[in-house]
Amino acid sequence: MSRARNFVLITIYFLVSLASVPSSAFFCEDYFMELNITDYNDRFIQYYGVTEMNSYLQKLSPVLEGSGYELNEIGQSVQGRPLYNIKPEKLDPEKKTIVLFSRHHGDEGTANWILEGFLDAFFTSGLMDEYQIIVYPMINPDGTIAHTRGNARGRDLNRQWKSLVDEISIIAAHLKNQFKALGSIKQVKVLLDLHGSFDEDFIYRVDEDFAGIDFYTTQENFVNTLGEDDEWQGGNDQISNGKEGMARIELIVEFTINAMTHETPRDIRLDNPQGRSKETLKQQGRDILTTVLAEYP
Ligand SMILES: [Zn+2]
Repeated sequence: MSRARNFVLITIYFLVSLASVPSSAFFCEDYFMELNITDYNDRFIQYYGVTEMNSYLQKLSPVLEGSGYELNEIGQSVQGRPLYNIKPEKLDPEKKTIVLFSRHHGDEGTANWILEGFLDAFFTSGLMDEYQIIVYPMINPDGTIAHTRGNARGRDLNRQWKSLVDEISIIAAHLKNQFKALGSIKQVKVLLDLHGSFDEDFIYRVDEDFAGIDFYTTQENFVNTLGEDDEWQGGNDQISNGKEGMARIELIVEFTINAMTHETPRDIRLDNPQGRSKETLKQQGRDILTTVLAEYP
């Protein structure tokens, strides 16, 4: 091989390797953190992993039992980890119903601290005569273990609500069965899909043409009320009709339920100047409950 040809090959190799790294990576130390996640918890609010979820669910289980709720393993992830659901033993068609998803994206750990705050508040609220919840606390446990957005096959699970593959085949079928058992889809007042965004708190909702002006206003009111309670979220939203296969989009199309995505920063530094902590994340979960009560009294 000639020296000139070697040079060309090396140049091509170098350009290809540049292209495979996110362009911001050279300036973003978080990218290198991802490569070395062992010290993540020394720098950011504790990562919420599968271990944290298992110990929380164990702690919650007598509370669920005492409240007429059940925790079920409804199937397994691609790598064989349990997929859980929390719901009443018997769904009541008279009760206002809230659906929560967490961790479509494995690496978005802040979402589950928020979910804990919500669940702790719900099960101590005395609201169970009027409200009921259906919760999928960790949709992508394999991605959570691997600290990846996608699942074990590299699929973005929040794009699979049309293809209905992998974990979503199980979650979607289970949820739709609950809707059938509930009888009245009108009782599903809100569905929130909890995520961790890059660096902002906001709600994704659809525009006024997507499902009509009343639907648009319903979502707008929810965001505004949440903003009064949640100082971090502060009423921020992004109006977006999303992408095909997104949970909130496909569920609005199929059932016209008030589905939105709740975003909170994914990686919050321990030394953040705003004083954010695991506790403030849990407070954001309690604020979701306060908002639900105010919007759907
Ligand atoms: Zn996400």
